Parts: sequence; structure tokens; C-alpha cells
Amino acid sequence: MDFRIGNGYDIHQLVSDRPLILGGITIPHPLGLLGHSDADALTHAIMDALLGALSLGDIGHYFPPTDPQWAGADSQKLLIQVHDLIQSQGWRIGNLDTVIVAERPKIKPHIAAMRDRLAHSLQIAPTQIGIKATTNEKLDAVGREEGIAAYAVALLIKVI
Ligand code: MG
Repeated sequence: MDFRIGNGYDIHQLVSDRPLILGGITIPHPLGLLGHSDADALTHAIMDALLGALSLGDIGHYFPPTDPQWAGADSQKLLIQVHDLIQSQGWRIGNLDTVIVAERPKIKPHIAAMRDRLAHSLQIAPTQIGIKATTNEKLDAVGREEGIAAYAVALLIKVI
């Protein structure tokens, strides 16, 4: 059996007048993530992990922030496109493991909904998706609530 592993990272600034969307779930918070698309840092980290596992480049290559067609894009739709690419090359997801780094708001109450949403987009089981959340202990930009970061690791399995 053939396996590949990939990792991904993303960070977006927190600003007013934007929704906070992580893992496809809108989280009530006075601040939201700034970006060309919906700025869903968790979903973007997952997409880069999937692409990285197959050495297919990064999301900036497929969805450039200079391209108006991705303005305000729903990152779940972008994730589905990346997953289609992975599948077209003969691979399926073994599991994903992720970390969200956010000082506020509390992420834990939303993790089950994020896993369900991502599992639906990827047509896998929620048990194949790990989402953990931590603060940055008030250190650096994330600790000052200037942004939210996410890390992801993906294991892909070759479909025989
Ligand atoms: Mg991003």
C-alpha cells in the first residue's frame, strides 16, 4: 500500500466587519478573518496539506488572490475542488489532523460542527478529521488577537 503525507499552514488577520469562518462554520465573534476568499484559515491549511502530500503546489497556485473569481469564495467549494484533484490522481484521504491557534473566541464548542462540515465536503467520516484548538498564551500576533492560524497534516492512501 502506498502512502503520502502532507502538511499545511495558514494565518489570516482578525478585523472588524468580517464574519469569522473556520472549518466552514461561522463562529459568533466581534472580529472576523480578512482575506480575498472567506479567509477560512483551517480549510486553507487542509487544502495545502492535501496538495503538499502529492507535491501539487499550494492553494495560491490554483486560487490566486489576484483573481477576482475567488473574491469572497466559499472555501468549502475550493476544498472540494482540491479533493477532486487528489481523487483524480488515484488517492483518498486516510486522515487529517489539524490545530487552530486562536486566543479568542473559544473554539472547542464549534469543533464538532467543523468536523461534520469538513467531513461532508470531503465525503469522509468525521472520525477521520482531528481538530484541536490552543491559544498562543498571549504571545506574538496571534496572542494579541491580531490573527488566527491553523496547521494541518494529511495522510493520503493510494487507491488500488
Ligand atoms: Mg488563507
